[in-house]
Amino acid sequence: MKVIDIVFTVDYEIHGNGQGEFSDFCYRPTELMLDIANVYGAKISLMAEMEHYFSMQLYPDIFYKDIRLFEAQLSRAIKENHDVQLHLHPQWLKARYQNGRWEFPYTANEIALLCNNYEIAFERVRKSKDWLTHNLQYYNSKYECVSFRAGYFQMQPSSNITRALIDNGIFCDTSVVKGLFRSGWNGNLDYRDIRTLNRPYRASMENVALEDKSSPVIEFPINVVQYDIILNKFLKIFGHTKYTSDSISKIQKMKIEQLQQHSQTTQMGYKVDTKIKKLFHPKKYRYLDFCQEDPNTILSSIKMMRCEDDRNLLVVLIAHSKDFVFSNQFKHLLEGINQIPECNYLTLREASRKYYELIKLH
Ligand SMILES: [Zn+2]
Repeated sequence: MKVIDIVFTVDYEIHGNGQGEFSDFCYRPTELMLDIANVYGAKISLMAEMEHYFSMQLYPDIFYKDIRLFEAQLSRAIKENHDVQLHLHPQWLKARYQNGRWEFPYTANEIALLCNNYEIAFERVRKSKDWLTHNLQYYNSKYECVSFRAGYFQMQPSSNITRALIDNGIFCDTSVVKGLFRSGWNGNLDYRDIRTLNRPYRASMENVALEDKSSPVIEFPINVVQYDIILNKFLKIFGHTKYTSDSISKIQKMKIEQLQQHSQTTQMGYKVDTKIKKLFHPKKYRYLDFCQEDPNTILSSIKMMRCEDDRNLLVVLIAHSKDFVFSNQFKHLLEGINQIPECNYLTLREASRKYYELIKLH
């Protein structure tokens, strides 16, 4: 029988600039989320942002309560058969707590630190993995940290960070969002050329956006829904109802012509290429955020996968603990998933092991 494995990943963190209270942004919403997941038999994988935790440890007098809550919550997750895997925001490495607030440089360089420096990447991953293993194996002897999500999805340039992960026994990355492109104050990355849609693959150590069947790294792209940027613009300007399937196909044709022009200009050098790509890349993707997306969109996306040929399908959903406001939406989503007989909940650790075996090295 076909199986659709559902993995709920939750980036467990306060704001990237250090703002926000841990108890409000992580602890309280996550307690509620775990309570609801338990009722429906779902499994939550907390992507614990360890650099914030290590920064709090530098000020035990100020943060003793938050440190205790952090440790208690991760333990609870493991005791109740959920999961905790690794998430790192290296901008915290220079964090100082002064005048009641966190201060640190918050630039593209800091965000991409682990991508640019193997030694730092290895050491930060090692320290975090050791902490997670030491503290969580006590509650479940099978616990292991084998999966990673980069802060800001920043996995490019890839070779330092992928090597640091593999050298620490972490073989699954789940940072890639098909279609994501960024060029600005918060760094550069380009995940627009990923070939597959919503499918795990062996990712190149040099560039996780590319497939490499001989790589030890497996990539779980976060599931996306696709929408058409040009079509969307037209629909916005003229209103939905004016468009029949005929006029849509005209727009599609125009887009194909633009794409053909674009492919003739890709040798023009990176900067020009990037600008052209940005203008004419015809598809946009939105990742499936189970705190922000309409649950019916997620459910229809899962239902569409039932028609696909593969016997094992993986759905990796993302959310942020700080966005968990509408618990009814989450309940509605879980009720819907529980009515699809093919669906099965896995932790990220379980999914990493399963799909690592399924997508064998070639
Ligand atoms: Zn994050």
